[in-house]
Amino acid sequence: MKALVYYGPLDVRVSEMPDPEIEQPTDVLVQITTTNICGSDLHMYDGRTNIEAGRIFGHENMGRVVEVGKAVMKVKVGDMVCMPFNIGCGHCKNCERKLTAFCLTMNPGFAGAAYGFAGMGPYEGGQAEYLRVPYGDFNCLILPEDASEKENDYAMLSDIFPTGYHATELAGVKPGESVVIYGAGPVGLMATLSARIRGADKIMVVDSHPDRLRLAEELGGIPIDMSKGSAVDQVLDLTDGQGADRGCECVGYQCCNKHGQEQSNVTMNELVQAVKATGSIGVVGVFVQEDPKSKEELQKKGHMDFDFGSFWMKGQSIATGQANVKSYNRELCALISSGKAKPSAIVSHELSLDEAPDAYKHFNARDKGWTKVVLKP
Ligand code: NAD
Ligand code: ZN
Repeated sequence: MKALVYYGPLDVRVSEMPDPEIEQPTDVLVQITTTNICGSDLHMYDGRTNIEAGRIFGHENMGRVVEVGKAVMKVKVGDMVCMPFNIGCGHCKNCERKLTAFCLTMNPGFAGAAYGFAGMGPYEGGQAEYLRVPYGDFNCLILPEDASEKENDYAMLSDIFPTGYHATELAGVKPGESVVIYGAGPVGLMATLSARIRGADKIMVVDSHPDRLRLAEELGGIPIDMSKGSAVDQVLDLTDGQGADRGCECVGYQCCNKHGQEQSNVTMNELVQAVKATGSIGVVGVFVQEDPKSKEELQKKGHMDFDFGSFWMKGQSIATGQANVKSYNRELCALISSGKAKPSAIVSHELSLDEAPDAYKHFNARDKGWTKVVLKP
């Protein structure tokens, strides 16, 4: 099959790879119809991890089931399915509590498993013609009848829609509250949509890219252009000097030269200032800077200069982590199917798999207009 393969930093190519096969009786094989490029893929593409050459990228996958293992009971050949990026076993202590991002079985000793990702297990990605899905009954969301019609909407259930929602859940956004969201990339835009779904009153979205800020506005946010002056001051002006009730971090560790930022701590320290005393902050941006080889390394990888004193004085709280995608998927799927949410609004490019290497270049450079790329293998 054809697949998007990593050769080294800034070097991905479409290559011929072996077709995946059913390896366990619980596996499902999916022919990929849509697979997205994610901001998280850029950590690997840009060389900020030590993912090995030869790996297939792609953790935002959707497609049609073409084969099921002997022990698969629910998923049937022909079903249109979307796969949460987290791979869970469904039966460990964490999966039982819906914490599938922290499955204890699929990537023992580390924080969770995913398709085609550094440090998250040996599973190949879905930027390819076919994907093997372990524990298929647990890891495939069977989509409604209109799956093909709303393909680009449902494909967002694999990651960014639930991840944006997770940011607002971690921050505890309630109806009528004000929220400041750092980052108007795909994840921040989905946090904007989610804050609106949760009934937030004032949703302020910080970024410097005019095209992304425009999308934030279309989704119900107030654009805060950080290139036009301090984002914190702009948020304080809009909140009577108090700060927002809640904050969402949707930027993560950013390559410094790309954003003119020397350090990875900018957004966290600004959030402490832009959120009110006793407010809470949800962090979904990724702060691990390299692929950890051991538990000890994992603990060191995100050291940063954080103003804990101000955070403590303001009595704020922070919640963090990968999204437990599966725990939100049924509800968010229903919102798409009833027409109440249209996450595909942020899709800027629909391309073939052959065009993926070029798309990586543009998306990595945050070229104007390249907000979200969906690939159609
Ligand atoms: P992205 O890189 O496309 O978007 C990030 C945006 O942040 C960009 O538009 C950039 O201009 C903006 N930005 C940079 N510095 C900023 C600053 N100081 N203040 C405000 N905005 C700033 O990435 P994305 O796809 O939207 O993903 C965002 C983050 O979420 C990444 O770190 C990604 O790895 C992470 N992520 C986490 C999960 C999870 O489960 N927790 C899932 C998916 C993605
Ligand atoms: Zn993703």
